[in-house]
Amino acid sequence: MLMIFPKLSKVAGENLYTYIVIAYEQDFFFAGSAKPLIERADLQPIYAALGMGNIGKINFVSPGTRLAYTPNLYGTIRWLVNQGQIRVFEVDAAALLSRVSNYRSDINRLILYKGLAPQLSIMSIVHEVTHAIQDWRNLVSGHKYIEADAYIAAAVAALSTDPNCAFLEYPAQKPAAKLVLAGQAFGTNTAWIQAYADVRKTVEADPPLIVLLKILPTRDLIKSLKTRLQF
Ligand SMILES: [Zn+2]
Repeated sequence: MLMIFPKLSKVAGENLYTYIVIAYEQDFFFAGSAKPLIERADLQPIYAALGMGNIGKINFVSPGTRLAYTPNLYGTIRWLVNQGQIRVFEVDAAALLSRVSNYRSDINRLILYKGLAPQLSIMSIVHEVTHAIQDWRNLVSGHKYIEADAYIAAAVAALSTDPNCAFLEYPAQKPAAKLVLAGQAFGTNTAWIQAYADVRKTVEADPPLIVLLKILPTRDLIKSLKTRLQF
């Protein structure tokens, strides 16, 4: 088990982790604190994150999903947010487990979790908007490819404004993002294919919270919670 709560015993740490994951997955934080962002001033962080300074260099064809990402697509999502077709909420989950944001394609909902450093906020918005693009393009692909694309796009945005950005989630993001920034992210470039594969492998080795939850030795706890909370 991950040492996320070093001051707790192993079992207590696992239980707390499980409760937090369930709270996220079941929308408890959302139900408790969601604030819809509607006014222009409230949506400003999204508009700023999707400004040309951040997304202007996101230009690559994904070897995994085959989708071509361009600044125009990010502009389209910005427009959809502006039109209210993608609803945005701010949720306060006290930055638990460092979860940063989330896009749900079934209801076109983008959640921004409160209390993030500005640079982290830009990266998480670009990451989630990449998922929104995938959704609006009706992309069907594996989790590892969908995520690899989003991590690379977010890294391109981060490195566009700060070449020394220290917030990247994985080291493999940097070489891939640098190739995008250099205009070298096309299908016949073996360096790009390799850099993309490295990101994909990293993502694969780091399963999402909900998968982690299923493999944790706390199945009984989850079962009893499910019965009690009826989900
Ligand atoms: Zn993602």
